[in-house]
Amino acid sequence: MSTDGAKGYNKKSVTDIDVAGKKVLLRCDFNVPIDKETGKIRDEGRIIAALPTINYLLDKSAAIIACSHFGRPKGEFKPEFSLAQVAESLSKHLGKPVKMAKDVVGPDATSLAAELKPGEIMLLENTRFHAEEEKNNPDFAKKLADMADVFVSDAFGSVHRAHASTEGVSHYLPAVSGFLLKKELDHIGGAISDPKRPLVAILGGAKVSDKLGVIKNLLKISDAIIIGGGMAYTFFKAEGGKIGNSLCEDSEFESVLSCKKEAEERGVKLLLPEDSVAGAEFSNDVEAKTFDSDAIPDGMMAMDIGPKAIAAFTKEISCAGTIVWNGPMGVFEFSKFAEGTKAVSEAVAGCGAISVIGGGDSAAAVRKFGVADKITHISTGGGASLEFMEGKVLPGIACLLDA
Ligand code: AMP
Repeated sequence: MSTDGAKGYNKKSVTDIDVAGKKVLLRCDFNVPIDKETGKIRDEGRIIAALPTINYLLDKSAAIIACSHFGRPKGEFKPEFSLAQVAESLSKHLGKPVKMAKDVVGPDATSLAAELKPGEIMLLENTRFHAEEEKNNPDFAKKLADMADVFVSDAFGSVHRAHASTEGVSHYLPAVSGFLLKKELDHIGGAISDPKRPLVAILGGAKVSDKLGVIKNLLKISDAIIIGGGMAYTFFKAEGGKIGNSLCEDSEFESVLSCKKEAEERGVKLLLPEDSVAGAEFSNDVEAKTFDSDAIPDGMMAMDIGPKAIAAFTKEISCAGTIVWNGPMGVFEFSKFAEGTKAVSEAVAGCGAISVIGGGDSAAAVRKFGVADKITHISTGGGASLEFMEGKVLPGIACLLDA
């Protein structure tokens, strides 16, 4: 995919700078899921995902000072939020020792960092053991930066936050992306700034208020926008439709009507689900009945798009050159209301278009329906990918050196 037109996302990466013999502060996403009963790492996916950048840097004779946040220790040292078991797992995957610091910017971290040799790696303790991290405190950022010569950012899931370890350090060190972050910039940035047309955006999920920013930005660049999921019913009710007990945000009527108007003015096709599958309560143990989406009886809640909507949506998807998708078409966690999200997943995977999926529930859906390997890019950052698609300037991206 061409990313030549990816204005503002054309940033330097690790391959654009000389790292040999340098100390690299590497911001990773080691915010791994933990098994509640054993307290052990439940899924090492994020650790494994960090390996390409780490191996590249080590092969190039850099010394790596890795760092990450982990959970919400609220600015205090709490042993249950220690990254020590991440260091063990990382060491196992790298086949070499990972020196674990006892602190973040204290005497242990700074002396380990000072002694670190090319080709060696250490891990700082959880950056959120200091309240200064989330406050983007310049002194704390400088202490982090002082240990290194270069900053490599590889934690896409945190780039929408201006924290000391995601943005602050870039005021003191040359900053570039690692491979994981570069992939996100190329794929999401490419899809929204230089898409192969037609660009079809698919938006779903529960709350329309969460997605209005994305709808507004995608209206400027898309050829068609498909809207499904709980958020669709605010559109129907705003126009006087009957939606029973379906999700609705009355406070957003004006906003959704203005989105519809803007779509008309811009000639963007806006597709809403003509029909929906509803049940008497938010449960899988109900009878599923299909109705027109603007004529849902009292007491019924729409929890999936219906067969006519599936036909219309999949037809539109089949013509797409590029697809961006964020949010499921219904309550896909319930088998009786999963059909719409399943059909859209399969259509996106099978249509041959460049497909970019924001993290979170739509990513979970393509995995659940077994088509994840046919998607061009599944983002690792839910919140970050949403803000990226909103066209916002993300502080952890803006701070990187321009290519
Ligand atoms: P979001 O985080 O806004 O993308 O919303 C994702 C959640 O929306 C999923 O857990 C879905 O079960 C839920 N969802 C999607 N469609 C509906 C619907 N029609 N009614 C209630 N919840 C829905």
